[in-house]
Amino acid sequence: MRISRKLPTATCVLVAVGATLLVITLGCKPARSEAAPAPARHINSERLQGTLEKLSEFGRNPEGGVTRLGFSQVELDARAYVMGLMKEAALEIRVDPAGNIFGRRAGSEKLPALLFGSHIDSVPKGGAFDGSVGSLGAIEVIRALNDGHVKTRHPLEVVVWTNEEGPHFGVSALGSGVAAGSLGPEILDRKGEDGLTLADWLRRYGQDPAHLADARIARGSLAAVIELHIEQGPNLYETKVQIGIVQGIVGLKRWRCVATGVANHAGTTPMNRRKDALAAAARDLLVVREVVRAESGRQVGTVGYMKAEPGAANVIPGQVEFPVELRDLDAAKIERMWELIQQRFAKTDSEEGVETKCVVINDIAPALSDPSVQNAIREAARTAGLSTADLPSGAVHDAGEIARIAPMGMIFVPSRDGISHAPQEFSSWDDIANGTEVLYRTILRLDQSKAGRP
Ligand SMILES: [Zn+2]
Repeated sequence: MRISRKLPTATCVLVAVGATLLVITLGCKPARSEAAPAPARHINSERLQGTLEKLSEFGRNPEGGVTRLGFSQVELDARAYVMGLMKEAALEIRVDPAGNIFGRRAGSEKLPALLFGSHIDSVPKGGAFDGSVGSLGAIEVIRALNDGHVKTRHPLEVVVWTNEEGPHFGVSALGSGVAAGSLGPEILDRKGEDGLTLADWLRRYGQDPAHLADARIARGSLAAVIELHIEQGPNLYETKVQIGIVQGIVGLKRWRCVATGVANHAGTTPMNRRKDALAAAARDLLVVREVVRAESGRQVGTVGYMKAEPGAANVIPGQVEFPVELRDLDAAKIERMWELIQQRFAKTDSEEGVETKCVVINDIAPALSDPSVQNAIREAARTAGLSTADLPSGAVHDAGEIARIAPMGMIFVPSRDGISHAPQEFSSWDDIANGTEVLYRTILRLDQSKAGRP
C-alpha cells in the first residue's frame, strides 16, 4: 500500500532529499496534528449521522446491524425514506426499470452528469454502514452544495443502486449490472428463495420488467462515477489512514475442479495401491496457497469447499469436487498463477494416480479506477487535510460495473477491525464525515476539469 500524508507525495520526497530531518517531520506529518488544524468541512456531520441512524432502523436486528435484503418490504420502506431525503434536497427523482433510484441536480452547462452514490440493501445479518454511507453521504453532499448555494457546471446525479448484495437470484450488483449492460432480460425469470421471480419483484417496485433494457446507460453519457464506501477490510484502520483511494476492483476467476480416483475398501486396500481423490485434492489445496503466496502483491486464492464421494469413513474417496478462486487487480497475473497451479495439479495427479479436470465457472475482469478521478480524490483529501493510501478493493462494488462505461473512482473510509457483512461492522462518525467531505471536494474538482471529462 502506498501511503501519502497530509502534503502531496512530491513535497514529502522533495523535503526528504533536500532538507533537514526536522522539516521532513513537519512536512509529512499525518493530518489532525496540533501543528495545523484541519480545514473546516463543508458537509454537516451531525445531519449525516442523523440520517444514517434513521436509515439503520429499517431492518434493524436485535444484535445490531441490519437485515435489509434487496427486493424485500423493508428495503422498499427504506427506499421511500431515502427518496424523501432526495426530495427534501430538491433533487429531481427518477426510478429506472431496474429499480435504480436517481436524484438529479441541474448543472449550468450542457454536459454529461457526474454520478455518485451506492446501495442501501444489505446481506442477511449485515452491518448498517455498507452501502448506506455512500448513499446518504451522496445526499449530504447535495445538501451541503445547496446550503452554500454552490452551482456546478455538470448536472449532478445521486444514485441508489438496486440489490447490490444479491442474496436473491444469485446476482450481485444487479441494478448497476443492468445499467452497465452486463446483465439483461435473461435474469428476469430467475426465482428467489421466496418463489417470486425477479420480474415479479420489479413489478412490486412499480416497474415494468419488459422495459428492463431501458435501464442501460450509454457509454459516454456520464462524466464520471464516484462511490464512497467503507473499506470492509483492515488496511486503513490498522495503519490509521483516513482515506483510501481505490486503484480498482479486483478481477475474479473461479474454476470447478473434479479429482477422480478409485473408491475402494478403506480396510483392505494397501496404502501403496490407493487412488485417493481426497488426498490429491488436499495436496491441490495447498498448491493453490503456495502459488498465490509465492507472488508479491495483494492477490488472493481460495479453495472454498471440498465435496468427497461417496463420503463415508470406511471408503477411500473416489471423487472430489472443489473450486479454485483467484482474485487480483491484474488479469494477467491471475492467468499466470493458474498456469503454475495447473502444472502442479498435473504433478499431484501422476503421483496420486488420479485425474483432475477444471472448468471455468466465473470470470469477472478487474475494473480499474480512472487515474484522473484517483488524482481528484487525492487532491480533495489533501486540501481537506486528510491522510490517504492507495489500495485495491477485494470486494465487488456497483462502481466496478459502471467503470465499464464511465471513468470511475472510489473513496474508502476505515472499517473498525476490518469487519463487515456482520453486526459488528462500524465506521466512526468522524471517518464517515471525512469521506463525505472528500466526496464533496472530489465532485467540485471533477466539475471544474475541462471539457466535461475528468
Ligand atoms: Zn457495499
